[in-house]
Amino acid sequence: MFSISRKLRREEKSVGFVPTMGALHEGHLALVKEARSRSDIVIVSIFVNPTQFSERSDLEKYPRDLTADAALLADYEVDYVFAPDESEIYPEGFSTYVDVEKLTDGFEGESRPGHFRGVATVVTILFNTVRPDFAFFGQKDAQQVAVIKRLTADLGFETEVVVVPTVREESGLAMSSRNSRLSSEEREKASVIIEALREAKTAFKKGERNASDLAQIVEKRIATEPLAKLDYVAAVDRDSLEPIEKIGDEEALILIAAYVGDVRLIDNVVLNRKQ
Ligand code: AMP
Repeated sequence: MFSISRKLRREEKSVGFVPTMGALHEGHLALVKEARSRSDIVIVSIFVNPTQFSERSDLEKYPRDLTADAALLADYEVDYVFAPDESEIYPEGFSTYVDVEKLTDGFEGESRPGHFRGVATVVTILFNTVRPDFAFFGQKDAQQVAVIKRLTADLGFETEVVVVPTVREESGLAMSSRNSRLSSEEREKASVIIEALREAKTAFKKGERNASDLAQIVEKRIATEPLAKLDYVAAVDRDSLEPIEKIGDEEALILIAAYVGDVRLIDNVVLNRKQ
């Protein structure tokens, strides 16, 4: 892969890169479409990254079907699919990790210790290998976006991070490889997450600026669904992820994580979207 990316740079082709863990769905494909529209060459990586899983069992359970993924990508004019072995990314004796501080303390970082260290490490390795001009990430994983923007700036990568809006099922449920672990009833009820976020966003549009009141709207709505259990909800600054008391003119997020049955789902909405 490294020699390919060197050749592409020599040819002055712009490279758009979409890192994934496979089990591709419409959410991933939206990133690929965006990459296709912005870059000469599109590279998609498929790598189930062991360092971002705290539980070995989650890693083992993660769906893998490279043939199906490659078939899906065939419709999207992808130039290269990079599906490295574990030893290619983490050669024997590997012992260098990337820790993005502060941004990774709360929310997903709190309930999944080590997760973002694994994400930041693999993204650094992949960026170094692919050297993309653009890299595409989903808004669905808002904390991941903040972490990757930070590391891109801090480590001086010449890569523009492009954030693609969350792709949803018809019910509004954010697409995720985890959705396949929901029963059909749970899947239906899981739309309460986006309904709760949309209720808060509507209140915001009507003038509610108090973050704790917006969070309470979400909490109350989630509480109406017996299959759902709230983990956290918070209104935060889009880049620093610092909690906000009163939302001003800056872009902000309402972040949520909730269990539906045993499956932990995350989602968010953007307030004051600028782009
Ligand atoms: P993953 O394979 O889960 O690591 O995801 C790879 C990329 O796809 C990440 O940048 C995710 O944020 C993005 N992604 C996953 N689900 C969605 C979705 N529903 N909408 C937009 N992007 C998504």
